[in-house]
Amino acid sequence: MIKRNPGFANLTAGYLFPEIARRRREYLAAHPEAKLISLGIGNTTEPLTPHVDAGLVDYAKRLSTKEGYAGYGDEQGLTALRERIAAVFYGGKIAADEVFVSDGAKCDIGRLQLLFGRDVEVAVQDPSYPVYVDGTVIIGAAGSYSDGKKGGHAGYAGIRYLPCTEANGYFPDLKDLPENGLVYFCSPNNPTGAVATKAQLAALVEAAFKKGSIIIYDAAYAEFIRDPSLPKSIFEIDGARECAIEVNSFSKPIGFTGVRLGWTIVPKELKYADGVSINGDWNRVCTTVFNGASNIAQYGGLASLEPEGLKEMRSLTDFYLGNAKLIRAALEKLGVSCIGGDNAPYIWARFPGRASWDVFAEILDKCHVVTTPGSGFGPAGESFIRFSAFGHREDVVEACGRLDRLGK
Ligand code: PLP
Repeated sequence: MIKRNPGFANLTAGYLFPEIARRRREYLAAHPEAKLISLGIGNTTEPLTPHVDAGLVDYAKRLSTKEGYAGYGDEQGLTALRERIAAVFYGGKIAADEVFVSDGAKCDIGRLQLLFGRDVEVAVQDPSYPVYVDGTVIIGAAGSYSDGKKGGHAGYAGIRYLPCTEANGYFPDLKDLPENGLVYFCSPNNPTGAVATKAQLAALVEAAFKKGSIIIYDAAYAEFIRDPSLPKSIFEIDGARECAIEVNSFSKPIGFTGVRLGWTIVPKELKYADGVSINGDWNRVCTTVFNGASNIAQYGGLASLEPEGLKEMRSLTDFYLGNAKLIRAALEKLGVSCIGGDNAPYIWARFPGRASWDVFAEILDKCHVVTTPGSGFGPAGESFIRFSAFGHREDVVEACGRLDRLGK
């Protein structure tokens, strides 16, 4: 019989969110009267905004006409959308042919691993979005480091965890970056809500460059940044074009979690050790195992980058940030220490001395609120709970009121 890819055996029990869903079902089976509210998964809940919706609908209608119909498009995305992304988000620092439109950041994170194969050393922030680690483990790129250092998770030896804790201001010690490897870095961060400053990113770029490593910079929450001094892209940092790839997404800023649209920036200066262009290979990946994002989604994305769409993006992200403010205030009122929520839609709440899954169970049981246990994002997430601001306002207000029961 055919052999299983051994990478799967190295994964921990299950992907975090299905596990939360399982516990939620189990709780409901035992307490059918409970009216649960989810502040757990980072899934958007507000409807699409009118201008963006019109972009989708108008294009979908055009597809039913002889003149307007289109089949496969360019795998890299519509030229007009690549140009708009380059202009709106990167102000000329990135050329349109360095923008590759995708069906979402998560899908691109998975495909990016094809570029580097299984012999690459990988480092992640700890805690981090689970896809960086699990994607790496599935592809089998989780060997031991030459210096003998091991990662912190059972089964994940070979992935280097860079702790991001209160003690280091949620920014890792750059001495621990791998040589000639990959560094996943997410800012604004999921799950902590921390945002790296320009000086921190400049230090990260310098360290990665010196070590010959590439940063995979996940900026999926950049549009939630309100503090103008904080960088929204790694390409605001000099030197990043030589050592960084950026993945980004329309999911959270315009509610395209289900519509599916994102992009990846691969600068032309990026090269492998043998001098071959990474941009060229990424183009090859996109044309070979990806056939382009949905054209309807791309027209929605284009509409979101017109002046009216950008206003809607701002008000939608403002709305979720308003939720975040309420959640953080409710927790701080109880004396829980928190970060995030001001430039990110996540609040990272600390429950010293307690296991995250125990706190998760207590909040579920006492408040009927579903959260995400911090330990699911890596060992440094133990004793933390992530609260997501992606809810309807009335649910968030109700959940915040119920959190009072924790103090009793
Ligand atoms: N990157 C981070 C840090 C995320 O939190 C998420 C989704 O929650 C994604 C990427 C996935 O984005 P997309 O919906 O574009 O696949």
